[in-house]
Amino acid sequence: MCGIVGRVGDDEAVERVVAGLENLEYRGYDSAGLALQNGAGLEVRKSTGKVQELKDQLTVESADGNVGIGHTRWSTHGAPTEENAHPHTNETGDIAVVHNGIVENHSSLRRRLEREGVEFTSDTDTEVIPHLVDHYYDGVDPKWAFTRAVRELEGSYAVAAMFDGEDAVFAARQGSPLVLGIDEDQYFLASDVSAFLEYTDEVVYLEDGDVATVRPEIVTVTTVEGRPVDRSVESVDWNPEEVNKGAYDHYMLKEIESQPYSLTNSIESHLTDAGDAIDVDVFDPATIAGFEEVQFVACGTSYHAGLYAANVLNEAGIRARAFRASEYQVAADPVSEETLVVAVTQSGETADTLGAMRTASSAGAHVLTVTNVAGSTAVRTADESLFIHAGPEIGVAATKTFSSQAVTLSLLAQHLAEYMESGTPHPELDAVLDGVRSLPGDLQRVVDSESASMLANYYLDSDAFFFIGRGLGYSVAQEAALKFKEITYEHAEGFASGELKHGPLAMVTPRTPVFAIFTGSHDEKTLMNAKEAQTRGADVVAVAPDGHPAIDETDAHLPLPETHPMWAGLLANVQLQLLSYHAANELGRSIDKPRNLAKSVTVE
Ligand code: GLU
Repeated sequence: MCGIVGRVGDDEAVERVVAGLENLEYRGYDSAGLALQNGAGLEVRKSTGKVQELKDQLTVESADGNVGIGHTRWSTHGAPTEENAHPHTNETGDIAVVHNGIVENHSSLRRRLEREGVEFTSDTDTEVIPHLVDHYYDGVDPKWAFTRAVRELEGSYAVAAMFDGEDAVFAARQGSPLVLGIDEDQYFLASDVSAFLEYTDEVVYLEDGDVATVRPEIVTVTTVEGRPVDRSVESVDWNPEEVNKGAYDHYMLKEIESQPYSLTNSIESHLTDAGDAIDVDVFDPATIAGFEEVQFVACGTSYHAGLYAANVLNEAGIRARAFRASEYQVAADPVSEETLVVAVTQSGETADTLGAMRTASSAGAHVLTVTNVAGSTAVRTADESLFIHAGPEIGVAATKTFSSQAVTLSLLAQHLAEYMESGTPHPELDAVLDGVRSLPGDLQRVVDSESASMLANYYLDSDAFFFIGRGLGYSVAQEAALKFKEITYEHAEGFASGELKHGPLAMVTPRTPVFAIFTGSHDEKTLMNAKEAQTRGADVVAVAPDGHPAIDETDAHLPLPETHPMWAGLLANVQLQLLSYHAANELGRSIDKPRNLAKSVTVE
């Protein structure tokens, strides 16, 4: 949440800072702002709303300077107003700061600064930072003042600061992501690499407690105590094309339609070169043999991928459960050294999931993260990491990363089943592998079909939308409902199909279509439950392969290619992603940046 950028180089910074903010806008879009070193002072511009508003302001009155910082906000403290937009400055306006995170001790710092006579102009927690830096600044050593101030901050932050007259950006992180981009003649700082990927793929992932000083000719990294630290330069293998919308109206549609490609990357990286066996390189077989149970911890869409995988493991005889990471610290099953905790997080920065990982680690469990982002905090926190290789995802509503997570986790599940004592390797492993290799082609057929768009229009006027399924179909039903809510703002719920009659059936009317997911497993019962809804007047849409017996008994059909039951839910999910997309588009919703939401949720 919140995106911060910094750029230091020899030529004009404004365009690159703004482009960086546009690329990070999925992290927050309450307001945007920037500060530039223009030779005659720090020039600060802000606007409420999206980066476009800031851009419009800049075309009317240009802003100059070679060094700049910028911010796109998802507010935690203070309404999304212009006063609360970052950058925040000290009283004289010669120190400017952008911040991602929460300064938890902001009230006591604010009281202290107010007693010293400082007048605050915003309601944010962030504003204490420039005033505190000012408090320590003697006009000579900005690095010392910045570092000294940072040492007093409690909570989470990625923070970047500029001082009038200094061709430099000072930055620090603790609990919020911050990455340095190294180009031939310029440096970038950003919350994630998509901000500057079009310029460079050479990066340094800063770690908690690091302070970076970025000048046109040199970057130095130290601890907050000033001791130099060595951070290695890494190359990112993401394609810059993926952070552009191209000819699409929305990133979300681009990302849905790119799944045959992103999923190929995920599949190929977890199979042998010949594609005939699983090749998942985490923990040695002896360690896996010692695991007695698996717990998944995750939030939102990643939690549904965890549910999917827990189901796959249960079918293989392994004790496995998925937990919502925010609840895990409150009420988790006990863990031991024999517990494998799998933390699923697209960004690797999800605060709730990181908290759950720490809880599990300190209780002695083995912790694995399954993530999309190399160098992320989850990777550094976990004992081992497994990457989903889905490429950058910009739409706030996760799409391609769910498919890549579910496939990666299901292949991991097969790998665990081979070595865990309670596990039984899948009796049809060859068919499972045939199915996974065919998935990209199958997904292409889903993406090419027009049924989802037709049904979205047909049912647009409904009072609510229900999704039902069993087993793997249940996790998909929950994910489909979440997607529908996120981007249409309509009432949608996902139910275990057998649960309908235990309560939710009371909400079913002729104005509530029920989408029933048929995966090829337990389908008769799902059909029976769907018919119970149909008898109460609801239209039932069968999300099922052509020729499936449910089609004749239901009111409409969202077709799926034939596949192994392990993968049918994934194909159903993509059809339902398209349903949500087309419904939201018809309703004129802000699809890539849904109301009140942001991606990469770095606050608890
Ligand atoms: N706490 C800061 C604010 O509300 C930054 C928010 C964030 O990083 O999400 O302005």
